[in-house]
Amino acid sequence: MQHPRKRLKLMMPGPVEVDPAVLAAMAEPVRPHYGAEWTEFYNQTAGMLRVVFGTAQLPLLIVGSGAAGIEACLGSALLRGEKVIVGVNGFFGEMLVEQAEFLGLEVVQVDGPWDRPLDPQRIAAALDAHPDAILVAVVHHETSTTLLNPVAEIGAETRSRGTALLVDAISSIGGVPFEMDAWGVDFACTATQKCLGNPPGLAPIAVSERGWELVSRHPHKDHGWYLNLHLWRDYIANWGDWHPYPITMATNNVVALRKSLDILFEEGLASRFRRFEQTASYFRSRAERDGLELYTRSEWMAPVATAFRSPPGIASGRIVTHMSENYRLKIAGALSQLEGQIYRIGHMSPITTEGDLDEVIEALMAFQP
Ligand SMILES: *Cc1c(COP(=O)(O)O)cnc(C)c1O
Repeated sequence: MQHPRKRLKLMMPGPVEVDPAVLAAMAEPVRPHYGAEWTEFYNQTAGMLRVVFGTAQLPLLIVGSGAAGIEACLGSALLRGEKVIVGVNGFFGEMLVEQAEFLGLEVVQVDGPWDRPLDPQRIAAALDAHPDAILVAVVHHETSTTLLNPVAEIGAETRSRGTALLVDAISSIGGVPFEMDAWGVDFACTATQKCLGNPPGLAPIAVSERGWELVSRHPHKDHGWYLNLHLWRDYIANWGDWHPYPITMATNNVVALRKSLDILFEEGLASRFRRFEQTASYFRSRAERDGLELYTRSEWMAPVATAFRSPPGIASGRIVTHMSENYRLKIAGALSQLEGQIYRIGHMSPITTEGDLDEVIEALMAFQP
């Protein structure tokens, strides 16, 4: 069957379909990455992210994918051999463990079942067993299962013990409420190509006062130059109104991000969150009515993506292939230990409508086992 749309419509949990107004901003002529005029624009844009992160700190825009932000934070905060507790209930938790290990950190892995949120009491027990741990790292929206982990509750456990908290909020910030300061998060990391509705390219991060204290312990630690937050902070301190980063900023990505934030604030952050909730509940109730089986409880899933169980005896990869070959819809399969068992639909783009999700369900219903 030939589908009239040649291009794949992105319906996986990131990267996402991008608003044409944001794409047009991305395509504007290149601007200089330094100087008073550009730097004012840059600082305003980063400043707009404060509300989205729920912090008084000024976010930094690391050039790279989301993992660059995580590596900058983990690598700058901790020295080789220092201990970090990582909560794992999905593939991206496993990736956090791997990132920590590659940086030479000593990892205490706290595993939880992959079909429910992390239990803050398990993290608390690990903290009590490892009082020398300097930091806890968890994923907020575990995109591999669409589960949302209880960061506020985990933050209460780390804060009461004086341990730092790093959160991979790559696929939640902008789509789900995130309260960095209120929850006691010290390092919050996201990426532009998920709920923020941009092309890939930037990793916005924010660091608390306590997080900066950890970074300042070892200004010349050995994890490299590019992702050294101590260096990034020096540029903000010394060149803050002219060139507030050590590298050439990806200016077109920043212009696009600004456009997407203008659109976000026009809609209002609370209205945006409500709209995502409504779209998710519309999608899931129609899907269940049509006989599709949710991977786990709807209230445990982030409102920006949905995982379904593959029918018995059918590898989910076949459904993913059916969707792209016959309907030009890109959805995602399963990762790691869930291989073959689930498939995932993203609805984290600000321009995804109920109509897009109707199209997904109709295409799923046409799958012939
Ligand atoms: C997408 C994603 C990542 C990886 O981000 P990159 O931009 O590919 O580096 C990490 N963690 C989570 C939770 C994600 O959704």
